[in-house]
Amino acid sequence: MAGYESVIGLEVHVQLATSSKLFCSCPTSFGQKPNANVCEVCSGMPGALPLPNFQAVHFAALVGMATNCSVRSRSVFARKNYFYPDLPAGYQISQFELPLCEHGYLDIMGDKGKKRIGITRIHMENDAGKSIHAQHENLSYVDLNRAGTPLVEVVSEPDMRSPAEAVAYLKTLYGIVTYLEVCDGNMEEGSFRCDANVSLRPVGSETLGVRAEIKNLNSFRNVQRAIEYEIGRQQDMLDDGKRLVQETRLYDAVKNSTAPMRSKEEAHDYRYFPDPDILPVEILTEDLEKWRKELPELPQERARRFREMTGLPEAEAEVLVQSRGLADFFEAAAQKADPRKVANFVLGPLLRECHARGLAASDPTQWGMKPAGLAELVHLVDKGLISAKIANDIFGELLLSGDMPETYVTAKGLVQISDSAALAATVDDILAANPAEVEAYRGGKTKLMSFFVGQVMRATKGKANPALVNELLESKLSGS
Ligand code: ADP
Ligand code: MG
Ligand code: ZN
Repeated sequence: MAGYESVIGLEVHVQLATSSKLFCSCPTSFGQKPNANVCEVCSGMPGALPLPNFQAVHFAALVGMATNCSVRSRSVFARKNYFYPDLPAGYQISQFELPLCEHGYLDIMGDKGKKRIGITRIHMENDAGKSIHAQHENLSYVDLNRAGTPLVEVVSEPDMRSPAEAVAYLKTLYGIVTYLEVCDGNMEEGSFRCDANVSLRPVGSETLGVRAEIKNLNSFRNVQRAIEYEIGRQQDMLDDGKRLVQETRLYDAVKNSTAPMRSKEEAHDYRYFPDPDILPVEILTEDLEKWRKELPELPQERARRFREMTGLPEAEAEVLVQSRGLADFFEAAAQKADPRKVANFVLGPLLRECHARGLAASDPTQWGMKPAGLAELVHLVDKGLISAKIANDIFGELLLSGDMPETYVTAKGLVQISDSAALAATVDDILAANPAEVEAYRGGKTKLMSFFVGQVMRATKGKANPALVNELLESKLSGS
């Protein structure tokens, strides 16, 4: 990359989780029979009158407030004209000159520490339907169930300088819209997807280079890889002395490459004009104030608070807040037991077992374990009733079954042996069985301590209280 700097700006489409569409009352439910959720408005019949969904405006305004934008009390829907088979009206209803939100920013962890990424605007628009090409050799089908679903498009400034910064920005935005509960966050179903604009320019240059726009990336991994590939491709072109053209490209995850789709259209190609069928959206000041008060604690503030509670480093606190479900679970358990110890169980065994057992780490309703169960497990280890190792070993079972830890370890006979008389007998047996090691230890090979501890642990199947074992061994080996 010597000589060039990469410049990235993202356009993110966030599907709003309203129950009905943006301009009609058809349901937004996913996975229905094709064209089941369709009426004259969302199928673009001439003369049908669209009526904005106030819930969608509310959700969109929350996204704006949470991303430090100013939210307009008066915004205007505009027609964006283009032809595509899955766009039955021949235009998309979007916002152009007066979008709902503008001039925001997000703070992210950039390549060189904290970094502020500008948000140019957030506008509302309706989604298109879907063309289906795979079902027939030479016919295409159109499914309009998605047509009219409310979206916000969050447009960033070209402030990112690497694929990692683009992903960090996206994850921050994703955290916000899912915490707000205005988006279901299902990236596979396209509820959160992004177009990545990528260009290169000579290091030190202030002017922007020619950009390619990579359409519809629907996973963080694809965003990372598509941008990496695109930077490499543009670099090669420039190194070969070729000229780049402004164009729209598609990313192929299987081939891990991008290919041209069409030359990039300019805004004037769309012939935007205010939609004469829809009145400007007016929001009362009192509604805006009410909505602002509704904003929940967002991931970054929550991570800061969790760091104070636990003393954990930033990266780990961020894992705890990566979903609202996981953060709520942690916080409920941390009210009943030492927060740092609870966090260690969440970051270690809990995430590991979710992964191993195919449970969503973001959705505690899928697990048997409740916050009280995790807190009790922490107490069992604290009280020396079970060892940390056993707690770790049984975690998966407890997570799945939801059994309360104390009942479980008692029933399974896993309670630690903290009875010194019983342990003393075992220690005596071990010393008697290993006279050579005892002599070597007394002769100065004190490293053998771990050998003796290991033997006692083995004899007790890991149930001996380690502190007590060490104490007993030390006194017996130093004595006669
Ligand atoms: P359009 O909506 O036609 O794609 P915009 O001018 O609104 O065009 O830009 C869309 C996105 O592209 C924004 O996120 C912006 O930051 C980004 N962008 C614009 N120019 C460049 C460039 N030269 N390199 C990288 N990103 C760019
Ligand atoms: Mg664009
Ligand atoms: Zn409809």
